[in-house]
Amino acid sequence: MKTEFDFIETIRRRYSLSKIGDDCAVLSKDSKTDLVITTDLLVEDIDFRIAWTTPEFLGHKALAVSLSDVAAMGAKPVWAMLSIGIPKKIWKTDFAEKFYDGYMRLAKKFQVEIVGGDISKTPDKIIIDSIVAGEVRKGKAVLRSGAKVGDLIFVTGKLGGAAGGLSLLESGIRFDSKDKIRRKNLLLKQLQPSPKIPDGEFLRENNLATSMIDLSDGISGDLAHICRASKVGAKIYADKISFHKNSSPAANSFDEKLDLALNGGEDFELLFTVNPKKYFQAENEFKKRRFFQAGEVTANLEIIELITKGKSKILPPKGYRHF
Ligand code: ADP
Ligand code: MG
Repeated sequence: MKTEFDFIETIRRRYSLSKIGDDCAVLSKDSKTDLVITTDLLVEDIDFRIAWTTPEFLGHKALAVSLSDVAAMGAKPVWAMLSIGIPKKIWKTDFAEKFYDGYMRLAKKFQVEIVGGDISKTPDKIIIDSIVAGEVRKGKAVLRSGAKVGDLIFVTGKLGGAAGGLSLLESGIRFDSKDKIRRKNLLLKQLQPSPKIPDGEFLRENNLATSMIDLSDGISGDLAHICRASKVGAKIYADKISFHKNSSPAANSFDEKLDLALNGGEDFELLFTVNPKKYFQAENEFKKRRFFQAGEVTANLEIIELITKGKSKILPPKGYRHF
């Protein structure tokens, strides 16, 4: 069966839609500034479960996932729109008010202005469409297509936490503010992710990233998008991956942690490529920000190799697919 990525590629080619394919579309605003814009759809029982989250967490996450795409362009978020379809039985409760409390708290943090949206009724399930637009200096948005052979591959933070949190939710554990800090942190990585806006802006302002994407579907899937767009390949070193320290309640062995880190989605860290010379200039700042090197860019077109204890094998894209 075709994946959503195959379908998007088909319409992009058939109708010559040149602005499709990155984390955000880049549009010209004026002679100094480009506008970036992204939309994300969240469907109940597909992208979230009401019983596993709270309305406040869900409001936060609806905005966070789109802010993360703006971060992946190295841009500053400025405006947002939110549309929600909601069943009557939920509308009668205080769900919508609490949802907006979570959404607005995050909007305030990044000084994002809400400029519109829409509300409708659905027969049964909640559906949310989150749009965020932002600004970046003309021609400076960081695309998926700029990686060069020999560039180093970096990630802005530890991986596998969101997938670890999801596996706790699947096993019946729910967020409880009085719970142990380790378990709470893991669940919060899944339920209330932090978009890496400051890291994205830092990388763009200092011209450090040759390409960038946010990790919504796991390294195996998202690095494949960079490789396809940049017409390169990549090597990932298993022993260089930095795991979320709390992923252990969900994964015991190294292989289980590696699987969560490579194939688990929704960490919303940024994955970027950097020229080795530029990296040496920025090494201290990278350390301070706790970025870690995961691998390097190769000429092996669209092939991602995973190196474990000196042995190489192909890493197939196993990240999240809707279809
Ligand atoms: P992300 O995970 O970064 O949000 P997606 O995988 O959702 O990105 O989408 C990849 C690209 O395809 C984006 O540029 C997005 O705008 C575009 N896209 C996704 N769905 C559609 C659609 N239904 N019509 C047109 N473009 C789409
Ligand atoms: Mg993205």
